Amino acid sequence: MKEFQISTTVKECTYDELSASDRELVDKAKEATRGSYAPYSHFKVGAAILMADGSIVTGANQENAAYPSGLCAERTAAFYASSRHPGMEMRKIAIAAATALHKPEGLPEEEYFQNMPISPCGACRQALLEYENLYGDIEVILYGRDSIFIFPSIKSLLPFSFTEF
Ligand SMILES: [Zn+2]
Repeated sequence: MKEFQISTTVKECTYDELSASDRELVDKAKEATRGSYAPYSHFKVGAAILMADGSIVTGANQENAAYPSGLCAERTAAFYASSRHPGMEMRKIAIAAATALHKPEGLPEEEYFQNMPISPCGACRQALLEYENLYGDIEVILYGRDSIFIFPSIKSLLPFSFTEF
């Protein structure tokens, strides 16, 4: 029986170590959490996608009483980006999450967000991979207050994706 390994190189850094443009993208993802509709999970996720023309498209998770009818922040942003800019390359996506339904009064802005990054669900990885296969690698920046993880592509988060077979 043959064995092989799958490996991914992940960069870890802090917010201050990001480039100014990556900080802006992360800031947009954090801002986007305010657009979340999460009355059931109280878990607010924001995503910001940097487009090839330099514009940034954002989205937030949208829940529904009929649970499967809701949509994650990443797909909300990606589908909006593709609808608004058909055929345009998506270069990077930043994702941030907060657990409070509303930022409590007096809570410092930074304490509203998760300490460690969250990572896109499998369905969002598959959806984003399709755009990556069309237009080129999409860098993934996962924001956490203590650590930020940077993946070089969606594919690096989704080995053996559906489209490989
Ligand atoms: Zn998802």
